[in-house]
Amino acid sequence: MKKQRPRGMIINLIKEFFISHPNEEFEHAPVVDWVTEQVVKSGYETPRDIWRSIRLLHERGLLVKVDEGIYKYDPDYEHESDLQEFPETIKQEILKRDRYRCVICGLGEEEGVKLHVDHKRPKSKGGDNSLENGQTLCSQHNILKKNYGQTTAGKKYFIEIYASAVRNKDEKMIAFCESVFDAYDEHGYNGHIKRPDGEP
Ligand SMILES: [Zn+2]
Repeated sequence: MKKQRPRGMIINLIKEFFISHPNEEFEHAPVVDWVTEQVVKSGYETPRDIWRSIRLLHERGLLVKVDEGIYKYDPDYEHESDLQEFPETIKQEILKRDRYRCVICGLGEEEGVKLHVDHKRPKSKGGDNSLENGQTLCSQHNILKKNYGQTTAGKKYFIEIYASAVRNKDEKMIAFCESVFDAYDEHGYNGHIKRPDGEP
């Protein structure tokens, strides 16, 4: 059985196609062919009704309708936020590189978690949409990361590991976590998050 296609994949691919060909006019066929190729290459079933999504993007104001069944993308009409997401092809590459698992907890869709592609360095801080700036996170760690940033999420995560190590009386892991907390202190990161082992 083939994997289920991620939500929004078709729309994102169509956007990517048009954005990389600004002001060029296209009929449905070349767009549909390219999108189909990307989807199949990523291991999903051949999509149908791609033209419907092209029309939807026109209705949303991203594509300009030149003539019946002919559309173009005009950067001057573009809304900024549309450009800030990872292009769908990069997104698929990031997921593949991370083996379709959260880079923090290692869980994947087989375990029932939803995967997100996250900007390591946030867009608001100048992070780009490159392969290197992307990472796969589960919903839980995505929220943690979004709310706390990279090092803070790391410390929070080690607090979780530390708690279960204490429960399991895993001395080796307890010692490791303490060294991690020491490193945070030594380098002056995230001092506002209290370490769980009672050290100041
Ligand atoms: Zn996770």
